[in-house]
Amino acid sequence: MSSIVLFGPPGAGKGTQAQRITESTGLPQISTGDMLRAAVAAKTATGLEAKSFMDSGKLVPDEIIIALIEQRIKNPDAAKGVMYDGFPRTIPQAEALSKIDEISHVIAIEVPDERIVERICGRYTCAGCSAVYHDLFNPTSEEGVCDTCQSTKFNRRADDNADTVLSRLKAYHEQTSPLANWYGERGVFFGVDGDRDIPQITSDILKILVK
Ligand code: AMP
Repeated sequence: MSSIVLFGPPGAGKGTQAQRITESTGLPQISTGDMLRAAVAAKTATGLEAKSFMDSGKLVPDEIIIALIEQRIKNPDAAKGVMYDGFPRTIPQAEALSKIDEISHVIAIEVPDERIVERICGRYTCAGCSAVYHDLFNPTSEEGVCDTCQSTKFNRRADDNADTVLSRLKAYHEQTSPLANWYGERGVFFGVDGDRDIPQITSDILKILVK
């Protein structure tokens, strides 16, 4: 099994790109953020523990995240590799991952801090198929109707607000960005400019993946 990591600050477009790369490569997307939101909604023990960290924009403790991933990659759909979105976010998570999966590419979607707040504050997701949209940068073609599944129901994340974004960015710079060097030393780290049109970024990522 050999897998890919999509890396970058909150709001960089990891989820959007993950959905597009999944279509091209067939690798399943594993988003720890999505798994945690599902656990919170289902009020599982993990969800109850994780909620206060998520609401305040802090990272959920490593043990909880690592246990979620260990369980998830036992699923047969992960046998040929996966695409991690929003994981790992700390050095201990990367160390734990290195024991259970081989990482061929870590793709960093680079977006400057000053663009993050506007990108996060306008985003929404289809309640039917989870397609990701943005009020300004990536709206549905027909207002209020999902392009992919025609659902008319959409969700906005509780933590996508200007206050929480600043804590999420702080967590990113303090705890997650050191992973760039960690993976750089292992020769698997690649950067793409994430401040461009969505299809251009996808095309750059796909070119890196065939290297
Ligand atoms: P995301 O959807 O990736 O932006 O994640 C939303 C929130 O879930 C984050 O702000 C963290 O509180 C938590 N979270 C998601 N993935 C991780 C992770 N790998 N490590 C720690 N916390 C995480």
